[in-house]
Amino acid sequence: MTYSMYWSKLARSLSPYIPGEQPRQGTFIKLNTNENPYPPSPLVIEAIQKAAGDHLRLYPDPACTELRQAIAHRYGVQPKQVFAGNGSDEVLAFAFGAFFNAPGPGDAAPLNGSGSSPQGIPICFPDITYSFYPVYAGLWGIPYRTIPVAEDFSIDYQAFKIASGGVVIPNPNAPTGRALPIAELLSIVQGDNEGAPDRVVLVDEAYTAFGAETAVPYIAAYPNLLTVHTLSKAASLAGLRVGFAIGAEALIEGLCRIRDSFNSYTLDRLAQAGAQAAIMDSPYYDAVNRMVIATRERVAAALISMGVEVIPSSANFLFIRSPEKKGTGFFAALRDRGILVRHFDKPRIADYLRVSMGTDAEMDVFLEQCRNILMKS
Ligand code: PMP
Repeated sequence: MTYSMYWSKLARSLSPYIPGEQPRQGTFIKLNTNENPYPPSPLVIEAIQKAAGDHLRLYPDPACTELRQAIAHRYGVQPKQVFAGNGSDEVLAFAFGAFFNAPGPGDAAPLNGSGSSPQGIPICFPDITYSFYPVYAGLWGIPYRTIPVAEDFSIDYQAFKIASGGVVIPNPNAPTGRALPIAELLSIVQGDNEGAPDRVVLVDEAYTAFGAETAVPYIAAYPNLLTVHTLSKAASLAGLRVGFAIGAEALIEGLCRIRDSFNSYTLDRLAQAGAQAAIMDSPYYDAVNRMVIATRERVAAALISMGVEVIPSSANFLFIRSPEKKGTGFFAALRDRGILVRHFDKPRIADYLRVSMGTDAEMDVFLEQCRNILMKS
């Protein structure tokens, strides 16, 4: 269905995000949604089992107190500088509503004279980036403009130093995997107006654990910096739906205002318990993610030796292009051979595929099939 007379104007105006396929049948090697190929820490399963008792009668802690304490401890910040939500998608959606303005009568006066994004001024994000950002902007009616990434897909950080209603930057970027050096990222946060930044910069750190530098240590210095994190990738918990944000207390309060106007209990008891155990088991995850990074480097080298172009990646996926078999053709050939990757039918990147890192055994099959496909074509 493409239209119903019962839809509100808002529902009619939306162009919702389309997530990567989650096949319900068949035995695919699944390299299409950047999940971690390794299981969560055994301590996570234990914590969830423990939480799955009689207490499910009761609502969970709406403030996620213990989880936020664990996150604060791990990142060296205060619990009041931490917000937890139902996946980083939800945290990002709340952040768009909390910090960016739609033009309209409601935002004619700036909040307390400063701090809110100037009305009607578009927010900025890269033209090649996570495709949920324009969807959130559409949901909240926030105008945006995209800043083109360079030919090699690196982020042109200077181009972000313009008057804007806010900035969203994933580091590393998705789906390219390219990371921005922290000094360049911080210069965007500072803007041209050093000392008095007038717009919020959201740094989406979904993939930072796989090789980029986190901006968390700088949240104390920059009241306009909010980092957004997920347990879906580096903590092998895509199925639990937990994300969080770290930033100045005032930003966290802004997120709470949006959440508590929507749903006070976004994280259930099982998710809070499991996430807390994951946050506390860094040794396990450090080892897992070292394996993912080693696999990525091995697969990148093997693809390059086959003549495939590989964008340097600091994430748990590779963005690749074959001169012989591009985009949809390569995607379909891999799918026919039981391997699911992600193809984005979009300007500038339609020739590329994004390949999430699986186990070494899965990636051996992937490489073997690439050899077959590329020799045949
Ligand atoms: N940010 C980026 C850049 C992503 O690729 C994803 C995963 N699709 C997310 C955020 C959302 O992750 P989740 O909602 O699973 O935490």
